[in-house]
Amino acid sequence: MRFLVTAGPTREPIDPVRYLSNRSSGKMGYAIAEAGLEAGHEVILISGPVSLAPPRRAKLVSVSTSDEMFDAVHRHTDNCDVCVLCAAVADYKPPKVSPVKIKKHAENFSLELVPTRDILDSLGHRQNRKFLVVGFAAETNELEQNAAKKLRAKNCDIVVANDARLGMESDENELLILFRNGETKRISRAPKEILARDLVKIFSKFATIMFDKKNETITERN
Ligand code: C5P
Repeated sequence: MRFLVTAGPTREPIDPVRYLSNRSSGKMGYAIAEAGLEAGHEVILISGPVSLAPPRRAKLVSVSTSDEMFDAVHRHTDNCDVCVLCAAVADYKPPKVSPVKIKKHAENFSLELVPTRDILDSLGHRQNRKFLVVGFAAETNELEQNAAKKLRAKNCDIVVANDARLGMESDENELLILFRNGETKRISRAPKEILARDLVKIFSKFATIMFDKKNETITERN
């Protein structure tokens, strides 16, 4: 199968020396990309700025802003079987970037922010899509309710939820997986590499069931 995986944070520029970002390390997305390759799938990894070495056999597309990630995802979704949107995309960005460094003044300073485009929502609602859409939900409260809301609102097939305080920047995580049909599955605390292998198996199984995809790997095809 062909996997598309987004990972890491985005950076939303404010002026030539400043940006808005978050603490996402990219570890979960990179582990999913690696596990996908290990399982014999093709992987396109669309990554925000992280300090991780990309899996050698993945096709890496490096981006910085949410707009760049949006465009890269839509350029690469054709022929994809599974889209895993694991990136911590900024929810807001400055409407325009100051061409010069903003100067310091004694008064308070407010920064106007506008919503970014939601990549997951745009893929979930693609007409007649033939690929599985997996979203992630990092929540600090009401994990299951918030993740279920996200699954419905963004028309995902699967949402992988975790406690943001546990998973961010960490090598381990604990997951709650929600499926479109209302089923749920818990995976207890484990290194992200181990979780990623389980997730890849679940995603390829569901893509096979939902979209009648052949669960074949590159090795099987050759
Ligand atoms: O709504 P929230 O941002 O919490 O949703 C998280 C999920 O949505 C993640 O899968 C993330 O990759 C995706 N997302 C996105 N584009 C955005 C914001 C979030 O793809 N602009």
